[in-house]
Amino acid sequence: MDNADNVLRYQARREDAEFVSLRPRRLDDFIGQEGLVSNLRIMISAARLRGEALEHILFSGPPGLGKTTLAHLIAGEMDTSLAVSAGPLLERPGDLVAILSGLAPGQALFIDEIHRLPRGVEETLYSAMEDFRVDIVTGTGPGARTISLPLEPFTLLGATTRSGLLSAPLRDRFGVLFHLEFYTPEELSRIILRAAPALGMSIDDEARQHLASHSRGTPRIALRLLRRMRDFAQVQGKDEIDLRCCVDGLASLGISALGLDRMDREILRAIMDRFAGGPVGLDTLAAVFHEERDVLAEVHEPYLLKLGLLQKTPRGRMVTSRAYEYFGLAAPRELARSEEASLFGEQPD
Ligand code: ADP
Repeated sequence: MDNADNVLRYQARREDAEFVSLRPRRLDDFIGQEGLVSNLRIMISAARLRGEALEHILFSGPPGLGKTTLAHLIAGEMDTSLAVSAGPLLERPGDLVAILSGLAPGQALFIDEIHRLPRGVEETLYSAMEDFRVDIVTGTGPGARTISLPLEPFTLLGATTRSGLLSAPLRDRFGVLFHLEFYTPEELSRIILRAAPALGMSIDDEARQHLASHSRGTPRIALRLLRRMRDFAQVQGKDEIDLRCCVDGLASLGISALGLDRMDREILRAIMDRFAGGPVGLDTLAAVFHEERDVLAEVHEPYLLKLGLLQKTPRGRMVTSRAYEYFGLAAPRELARSEEASLFGEQPD
């Protein structure tokens, strides 16, 4: 697999540190996800009126859509600070208890990748979320005692790229579940417009739209591409990013129509060429690409599904005839027939 995609995608966290200045400061500046944001506003106003901590909220959706950003904005709107951690960092119940017992009344705790919490830590979270207390076991053997430690009321803001992997007891303890959707090119274009001055670069309208339509519906990718385009413009001696610059820049990064990158295209081609269009299991694909299953499921698959290039079936992943079209190929006749049949609600033979 090519490294260019990794550069774009998986350095995400490190690069985002440089984007902190681009982060919306107030909920009003958050672009898109309108239904979610208006529900959030109501919840925040109601909690403020009651003088209570906000309910626990779970955000789910592919990486880079704004889950962390929303958590920061919520803490700001509630006039509190945000404590931040992540599922894989909380190895033992004690790690979680140390954070929880240090929270101020009404403070928010953000746990990223909450589906990756170890079982014991997750169980500690249940009583913390429900009753604002944690049970700590001291000593071992017959001398072991359980102490119940009261906590200040707090708000848990969980984020997950895989809500399906969350256990039911954990999911049920959230007051509300918000799923973030991919952004439209128009919304991404507004995000780019807002961010460009902070990067010290202007971008013309055509270039902005072009970039927005190649950003996989994802603000993080739009911002990262914007920064790459700034490099291209500067090297070409331009003080504004124009369409030419974007077309050349995206081509050299290997990003093609619909915003697909090399890895997306390779996944589709592998299913077509090596598995006759599928179905093929995720584990097999992961083995073919020497890639983690989670990366395929969280990063690549959601966007390919959304574009209708890939479909999930009980027997595995299959490409659609649209994917064949994308590569200028004719779809196998059988596939076209079964898609047509399912369009009319018939069972394929
Ligand atoms: P996630 O936590 O879902 O992976 P982040 O919240 O870290 O995503 O967002 C990734 C980047 O995109 C951040 O730099 C953030 O400021 C920006 N971003 C995300 N959503 C929006 C939005 N709706 N409007 C403006 N910028 C956004």
